[in-house]
Amino acid sequence: MQNKYEKNIQINNKDALIIIDIQNDFIPGGTLAVNEGDLIIDDINNLAKKFKDNKAIIVLTQDWHPKNHLSFASNHEGKKPGDEYISKNGAIGPVLWPDHCVQGTNGAKFHKDLNTQLANKIIQKGIRHKVDSYSGFRDNDKKTETGLRKYLNSKNIQRIFICGLALDYCCYYTAMDGLEFGYEVYFIDRLTRGVDLPEGNINNALSNMKKLGIKFADIDSFR
Ligand SMILES: [Zn+2]
Repeated sequence: MQNKYEKNIQINNKDALIIIDIQNDFIPGGTLAVNEGDLIIDDINNLAKKFKDNKAIIVLTQDWHPKNHLSFASNHEGKKPGDEYISKNGAIGPVLWPDHCVQGTNGAKFHKDLNTQLANKIIQKGIRHKVDSYSGFRDNDKKTETGLRKYLNSKNIQRIFICGLALDYCCYYTAMDGLEFGYEVYFIDRLTRGVDLPEGNINNALSNMKKLGIKFADIDSFR
């Protein structure tokens, strides 16, 4: 694990910190709680402050589903959360989830400890009934974008730094899309937590990102 993290990164106005889905349902006590999801919030706030002080952009993503969303096991007869399910076009799956982050509910709200005042932009995703969106950039069918790329490009952003929940789903897919869209991508893995569903998913996500050239940063990687 030695020397894994980049060092001496000088944050500038072409950088964006993308904070993924720090919402009540993903925090212990929520319907799709990520283990220890609450433990990363203070450090995310501190890092966001540093980005803000260095004129970088802060983006929050928010999972924001209609209540009949097809990623929910409850909307499929005989299925339960964690069951494998892949829709034809890949828009839903590879597993089904408990009901979570339903538009307008408390579970969909950002956690009270997250400093949302620092955000320049909020991107909502998963808003269409038949399509999920793990990535902050676009839906799982890879057809419809959320507006994140357009926003980042309007601000001339070149490097993106990813943290939040969950490591092996929304953070991972956001990082991979970021790479495909030409950004220099940094994954702040200690400011994420994963669901590891199916088992081994976290390690697969991490090794895939390394292999493809995504860089890793830690809290003390910044000047
Ligand atoms: Zn969701």
